[in-house]
Amino acid sequence: MADIQRTLILLKPDALQRDLLGEVVHRFERKGLKIVGMKLIRLTDDLLNEHYAHLADRPFFGDLKQFMMQTPVVGMVLEGWDAIAEVRKIVGSTNPREADAGTIRADLSMNTPSNLVHASDAPENASKEIDRFFNQDELFTYEKISDRYVFGQGV
Ligand code: UDP
Ligand code: MG
Repeated sequence: MADIQRTLILLKPDALQRDLLGEVVHRFERKGLKIVGMKLIRLTDDLLNEHYAHLADRPFFGDLKQFMMQTPVVGMVLEGWDAIAEVRKIVGSTNPREADAGTIRADLSMNTPSNLVHASDAPENASKEIDRFFNQDELFTYEKISDRYVFGQGV
């Protein structure tokens, strides 16, 4: 049974530096995911220690944090049917050279840590990550004229 979910996206510094912000946002828009939050965020060491806590023991942790602080990132909250898994599918595997063709990481990137996008990987993480980067008053509920086609059942 599908649910309407929200998921947290970060467009990483390589997306900004390589002028790929629009391309990546466009892919999410075309899928029918609704942007319910969007802003520039300056990441800090404290925020990254929390956000990437599961990687703290890995040898690349320091480089990953440095990379993520090179420029502001674009934070987004996307909403849609099974949005968490659907967004991960569109983003592709962590290693861009193992990601399926057609995904953002396979089509537009080559290496880690610069694989363009962060996306929440599970419902419990999505709600924690949304709260980590967005205040309630930065999240929006609104109707689009396309909702009946994108969200509708049996339209
Ligand atoms: N990463 C890296 N080297 C690795 C694995 C991960 O630099 O060997 C970076 C990469 O940017 C990745 C991020 O750490 O997106 C978070 O890793 P995770 O395993 O959570 O992958 P993701 O959920 O982003 O696919
Ligand atoms: Mg992850």
